[in-house]
Amino acid sequence: ASVLEIKDLHVSIENKEILKGVNLTIKQGEIHAIMGPNGTGKSTLSSAIMGHPKYEVTQGEVLLDGENVLEMEVDERAQAGLFLAMQYPSEISGVTNADFLRSAINSRREEGQEINLMQFIKKLDKQMEFLEMDLDMAQRYLNEGFSGGEKKRNEILQLMMLEPKFAILDEIDSGLDIDALKVVSKGINEMRGENFGCLIITHYQRLLNYITPDYVHVMMQGRVVKSGGEELAQRLEAEGYDWIKQELNIED
Ligand code: ADP
Ligand code: MG
Ligand code: MG
Repeated sequence: ASVLEIKDLHVSIENKEILKGVNLTIKQGEIHAIMGPNGTGKSTLSSAIMGHPKYEVTQGEVLLDGENVLEMEVDERAQAGLFLAMQYPSEISGVTNADFLRSAINSRREEGQEINLMQFIKKLDKQMEFLEMDLDMAQRYLNEGFSGGEKKRNEILQLMMLEPKFAILDEIDSGLDIDALKVVSKGINEMRGENFGCLIITHYQRLLNYITPDYVHVMMQGRVVKSGGEELAQRLEAEGYDWIKQELNIED
């Protein structure tokens, strides 16, 4: 099985240190959740792993089966099997959803092993039906005029089509109504298995009512300060974060 290791990761934005040494190991087959108050660096973690230019890694590494993904070009990170869903997915005009997906799948394959059009359409139809999506979404331009819920659903479609080794999903639940939340959860649960590892970043415990994580981590002030199982998320929902601050002597 593959392993994703985040080791002593320090990240700065405009010379201000946001992540102050994050350590986390995710194996394929595991679902981890990171929770934490607003502004503690959760999105910074996913943006840094994604290679967003604004986020400067000053120390540490992110290893995918021993290879430092931070030294890879952004598209190489996806080719290596990392999937990063963004809090605010961008529009790519002139490229249909289906074109984007097919070229993304093929960029991870060897020459001569490309998915053929019939296989692709069959798989796409099946997954869109599973996610209760309108089939015409496939022919629309990527993210152009998509509602918030459609974007999130579409990210899960991308996930199911690309079948990455690891996914990092940042606030995939934000702004979703209950039906969309259920569909998004259903997709992630469908992916769950020995060939898939996932890091779910969420401010609210709500999503974790539908996806039971194997591990829950709390991030505060740029570090993972506490880890546990599913029960940790439930305690956070009931009691908030103050007890952890007290336990660890963290000041606001
Ligand atoms: P979270 O996702 O946990 O809410 P973020 O990673 O978004 O936290 O933010 C962590 C800190 O970094 C915050 O203090 C935020 O103001 C700052 N920050 C995040 N993104 C930027 C940016 N693009 N430019 C400047 N500061 C930023
Ligand atoms: Mg935030
Ligand atoms: Mg965030």
